[in-house]
Amino acid sequence: MNVRVRYAPSPTGLQHIGGIRTALFNYLFARSLGGKFILRIEDTDRERFDPTALQDIYDSFSWLGIHWDEGPNQEGPHSPYFQSERQPSYEAAAHALIETGHAYECFCTADRLETMRAEQTQGKSSVVGYDRRCRDLSKEDRERLRSENPHPVVRFKTPLEGDAVFEDLLLGRVKRKNKDISPDPVLLKSDRFPTYHLANVVDDHTMEISHVLRAQEWLPSTALHILLYRAFGWETPVFCHLPMVMGKDGQKLSKRHGATSLIEFRRRGYLPEAVINYVALLGWAYDDSREFFTLDELETLFDANKLNKAPSVFDYTKLDWFNGNYIRDCDDTRLLHLITPFLEEAGIRATGEQLKQALPLIRERMKRLEEAPQLLGFLLGDPAEYPTEDLIPKKMDVAATVEVLEGVLGLLEGLSSRSDEENEERFRLLAEQLETKLGNVLMPLRVAVTGSKVSPPLFGSIKLLGEDKARVRVGVALQKLKSTLGEE
Ligand code: GLU
Repeated sequence: MNVRVRYAPSPTGLQHIGGIRTALFNYLFARSLGGKFILRIEDTDRERFDPTALQDIYDSFSWLGIHWDEGPNQEGPHSPYFQSERQPSYEAAAHALIETGHAYECFCTADRLETMRAEQTQGKSSVVGYDRRCRDLSKEDRERLRSENPHPVVRFKTPLEGDAVFEDLLLGRVKRKNKDISPDPVLLKSDRFPTYHLANVVDDHTMEISHVLRAQEWLPSTALHILLYRAFGWETPVFCHLPMVMGKDGQKLSKRHGATSLIEFRRRGYLPEAVINYVALLGWAYDDSREFFTLDELETLFDANKLNKAPSVFDYTKLDWFNGNYIRDCDDTRLLHLITPFLEEAGIRATGEQLKQALPLIRERMKRLEEAPQLLGFLLGDPAEYPTEDLIPKKMDVAATVEVLEGVLGLLEGLSSRSDEENEERFRLLAEQLETKLGNVLMPLRVAVTGSKVSPPLFGSIKLLGEDKARVRVGVALQKLKSTLGEE
């Protein structure tokens, strides 16, 4: 079979994880089967069209490294298909359905529809949705009404009896009674632009789409689409409705759970390969154990038979874990390039050499690139302001902490020329002398030098910072402590 799939976003909002998952699965499906992947911009809703959303689609694809295979221009770089450029084909299709008796012109005014809806909500009518008033107008009535309203909408004649049935690749047989399907939905609006249903079906047919992989929220529309294919006399593509993406609480993933748009993930410093790897596992698994996949590998290993029916849960911690792994895999040049914008945004200036030396200290600790300024700030500028209490280990008081830091000052001298093991040994001895734990010696030093309780490895950081600066910072910490004792 000639595999042809499409991703068909509406440019009305930012690309979110669910959409990215649909795009990725379609892309991988095509690649794994030697098929074609099409990008189709469903922009027929001109009121909701948002140019930033369109740009976001392009940016998302280029960031992820995913390419579509064809578009209307046969030469040069492909632009995607735009439904707004294909209006005549939808109009022709709507009229073809009128000809064959599957659709009709509806002259109802907005006022009339509003009254109808109001009556329905007040329970005065048992019908929900359009009451089909224009479905069986006589020719004379139609002509009279057309002279009053030359721009009627075109509605589909949803069959009153029977069922819409299809075999979903994942869900198996899906059946819906026609009487439960939207009564006579609009196919062509009065501005002669199609609605989603018409344009989607016409394009999937015209573009010879073989498989439609889309989110499960589209399942109710599919029943109607099946009826449209039947009315046109067209073969239906194979449908595959992908499992929902949920938050940990079992609710559909939304802003309440955290970042959902791809751009937010980019801004927070996730790597494209981590996002691709993690998103590929939202509803798909290669086997019970393998977790790491590059895009290249997925392009050959993806197999729609391994999709899950059950909803998938978006786990931010797991994504962080993947991201941390991919950050560790970056070579120095790439990592430097990746963290630079984050440092610049935080106003941290450093030479390439300084940063290169610092990379080994932070590489292991970063889960997201956005953490780089916090991890590096103390090396390249002043440490962050910290509350004096942060210096004081649990179960110790100010006086004991002063004693610790005074002891530490003596050990800073020559620290850079000693190995980490040797330094650790000396600090351990100091702790013994002071009858406390090693952690209670290192913790105040860490806060004094870095301004934070979590930092890159301490001895390495001090070596990079320089003993002198470290000593000055410990001095500042001692002053802070002493001032609380009134002993300045
Ligand atoms: N334009 C629809 C969307 O925004 C496409 C749904 C489909 O794939 O049929 O998701």
